[in-house]
Amino acid sequence: MRELYLPKDMQWPKLAPQILMPGESISSLVDRQALLWGINRSQLIREISPGIIGQVALGDLDVSGRWMFLDIYAEKTGVSRGALEMHCGDRREALLKPKDRDAYCPICFFEDATSAHTPYFRLDWARIFLTYCQVHQCPLFKWSHVLPDGTRKLPHEWLMGEGIKISAVAQFAQDLKLARAYAYDVRPKRPISREAWACVKYFESSLFNAGVGAAKYNAMNWRSYSIEDAVMNLAVELAKDATKNGRLRVDESDAITFEDQRVMSFTFKKGPVRPARPTWFSLTGKVRSIACRRALMYRLSQSKIEWREYVYKQSSLGSV
Ligand SMILES: [Zn+2]
Repeated sequence: MRELYLPKDMQWPKLAPQILMPGESISSLVDRQALLWGINRSQLIREISPGIIGQVALGDLDVSGRWMFLDIYAEKTGVSRGALEMHCGDRREALLKPKDRDAYCPICFFEDATSAHTPYFRLDWARIFLTYCQVHQCPLFKWSHVLPDGTRKLPHEWLMGEGIKISAVAQFAQDLKLARAYAYDVRPKRPISREAWACVKYFESSLFNAGVGAAKYNAMNWRSYSIEDAVMNLAVELAKDATKNGRLRVDESDAITFEDQRVMSFTFKKGPVRPARPTWFSLTGKVRSIACRRALMYRLSQSKIEWREYVYKQSSLGSV
């Protein structure tokens, strides 16, 4: 085991062992453990490693491979440092801002709970360019029980592994119903919405397969970077027209009436102003709601620029 830079006489409490689930993010594991103690994420970090709370405040739990938190956390949880690193991203810029990582798949949550696991957040759900669940082919939704420090709260019954109690979270029941309708392909119903939904999924899976917007450097090659650069530039240009209430302002000719406003929503825009130097930050800073982010993905999927064909070719998925 690596040596920890810790005072030798200090007695560190151990945490109740938790299994790191497939694809789970580190922040999800930390949240689950904190909630079991009835505290939030930042309190748990302060309890186990008071010396690094400042680092954590400045850092990002999901992109923390190189710093001391993982050493301490491995020691506390009994999970190996190597296993923790596998669940960490190393491209902070490609993920949503820590406090905005609230996207979740209701069907994944349902299946976690019914297999006696605590529902958990996947690292992929934090990717900027991914708004649907690749397992269930349904939209991701916003988990609305998020504390100011980013802790995603879960009902007590779920933490205790007592199965899913849908009524425990009123919004969860609605999300699950809508997600299933998409997963079973009974929604959206209207042709224009169906087409838009198919475009979004196809475009996002193409980007995903081409390694664009990946959480880890090792999932990318030079082509991923060049496509990502082109997509990000256009995304930033479009994102400047995101509204605070979660809609994307577009020209009237580019707008569609999507039948589920919670899934995708547009509004008409005024005059555009292109930012001088597009950055990931100007993208994540503007697009806060998942319905707006999905609308942005739809607009990107419709753009008639060269990289669009290139992305599809790279992803080996054939044509739309
Ligand atoms: Zn799912």
